Amino acid sequence: MTESIDSIRLRAARPLEAEPVKMRATSLSAWFGDKRALSNISMPLVERKVTAVIGPSGCGKSTFIRCLNRMHEVVAGARVSGDVLLDGKSIYAPDVDPVRVRRRVGMVFQKPNPFPTMSIRDNVLAGLRLSGIEPPDEDALVEEVLGQVALWDEVKDSLDRPGGELSGGQQQRLCIARCLALEPEVVLMDEPCSSLDPVATAKIEELIHDLRDRYTIVVVTHSMQQAARVSDYTAFFYLGELVEYDHADVIFTKPSDPRTEDYITGRFG
Ligand code: ADP
Ligand code: MG
Repeated sequence: MTESIDSIRLRAARPLEAEPVKMRATSLSAWFGDKRALSNISMPLVERKVTAVIGPSGCGKSTFIRCLNRMHEVVAGARVSGDVLLDGKSIYAPDVDPVRVRRRVGMVFQKPNPFPTMSIRDNVLAGLRLSGIEPPDEDALVEEVLGQVALWDEVKDSLDRPGGELSGGQQQRLCIARCLALEPEVVLMDEPCSSLDPVATAKIEELIHDLRDRYTIVVVTHSMQQAARVSDYTAFFYLGELVEYDHADVIFTKPSDPRTEDYITGRFG
């Protein structure tokens, strides 16, 4: 017996609404000059869960997550309409400081970008120093966040060595540690494994899994296998639109939209 799409949607809608929401995009659109990169995106980010954003290259994944911490607007001519709520409050309200938003909603980039000549220890503290924050106990903080990214045991005897000497996977974990040192509530990761080998990728995926007890995480990935492995919720974007958002297992086993089905079965993208 085939189940109707509406019954699938209804079944999915119930638990989705019951979860605590950390952030929410409401009718979010984004432009680069005249070019519209996102159209009317509305979706929640569930607290302390991993949300994956998938879709073919150019569909707006990076633009979307950059709107979640007000990084989109740093591009000349870029603009946003609609809204993004963090704990129910607009991050685009006139009295909100974008720097404060970016501390609460941290970001990790595609290519690991530690300061190559700076020591591992100073790399961990770099975000804090740039923000003018002096933690009460730097050594304890460095150990704590390097522990959270499973790097402490590998680097504890070489904290004064340059960050650039680490392997690619270690550098990406160092960058995640630098982000976590700022005590964000939400962590955005834009294809964090795209430059890493399978072993380093597996470590980052394990890390994402461990971190979700403490942080709300959004991972952009072009790997459907990765999205299926790491995410609790998955959003499929296509041509700047949100085609479908649901529990990851629903997206990967019973998507409602034929475009999602075509994408996850590899028919395009
Ligand atoms: P994705 O991350 O899914 O590959 P992006 O969010 O980077 O997609 O891009 C969405 C659309 O916006 C694409 O059409 C892309 O060409 C365009 N775009 C991205 N960055 C810029 C920019 N700095 N200036 C103009 N257009 C851009
Ligand atoms: Mg991108």
